[in-house]
Amino acid sequence: MIRLAIHGGAGELDAGVDTREQRAALQRIAEEGLQMLRQGATSLDAVERMVIRLEECPLFNAGIGGVLNRDGLPELDAAIMDGRDRACGAVAGVQRSKSPVRLARAVMERSPHVMFMGAGADALNAELGLEVVEPAYFITELRRRQLRKAQTQNVIVLDHDSAYAESAATHDSPRTDADGAFGTVGAVARDARGDLAAATSTGGLTNKHPGRIGDTPVIGAGTFADNRSAAISCTGTGEAFIRAGFGFEVDARLRYAHASLAEAGAHALGRVAHYGGRGGCIAIDHAGHIALPFNSSAMFRAWVAEDGRIGVAVGET
Ligand code: ASP
Repeated sequence: MIRLAIHGGAGELDAGVDTREQRAALQRIAEEGLQMLRQGATSLDAVERMVIRLEECPLFNAGIGGVLNRDGLPELDAAIMDGRDRACGAVAGVQRSKSPVRLARAVMERSPHVMFMGAGADALNAELGLEVVEPAYFITELRRRQLRKAQTQNVIVLDHDSAYAESAATHDSPRTDADGAFGTVGAVARDARGDLAAATSTGGLTNKHPGRIGDTPVIGAGTFADNRSAAISCTGTGEAFIRAGFGFEVDARLRYAHASLAEAGAHALGRVAHYGGRGGCIAIDHAGHIALPFNSSAMFRAWVAEDGRIGVAVGET
């Protein structure tokens, strides 16, 4: 029973914003993932490929088109996890590794470690023969403009809204990103063998302090997979997802409290809200149920459920 879901970030969105390009990209990438899975690919290969495609798409906050830090540079985070044995790999703050998620997979499979950061991660990328690029490869004019705007307003901005004010402790008063580019990306899948996998990739927050790391590469927070419970990829205010231990929280609710995936996801999102965060996740459990909860006005997403058809939605629809 093949299932998949992908996301392109969550946030606050005005009803009038044109999302056709993002929807088309999500549809195309979900189609590619579905075809792979139908041809017998593992869930791990499918989530990696779909996230690479999302990294290559400048419409989303990962890889090319990732948001810029305070110094005007990309610092990209990614993680991948195999539900069969909880094998996982993560990288944080990379600037020269063409595909952060591919590097995360190499960390998982070709190093004895789980997590690398910064220059060491980029050095590993080169040592393993993966493609090396200059930081400029990731930078788009839109992201430069967004950084200038954030710096004029002195805020650190979650890509698709402005839940983070640098000086304020509150996490409300979201502002719509009128420039039309949205969010972190992720993928979860269940392959024909019943194996689960998850992957997530992000540029983090616009105007973030150099060195800041969000939930995306934190295993058990923004990225998680275990065949006994679920595969999960998150998007939103990373600090709150880390505090909620989002992935582990869903896993615990499923395995110990025997909650449904929908209940477990809603509960974990409640914890995120409790810690002042917003966003959402895509999740698939061992039985193939899909949950796509979010507490922001929108979460860019596509999925394949029981009917085998691809669904794409941004807000309620
Ligand atoms: N969760 C990401 C982070 O905090 C941001 C996002 O989802 O857009 O780095």
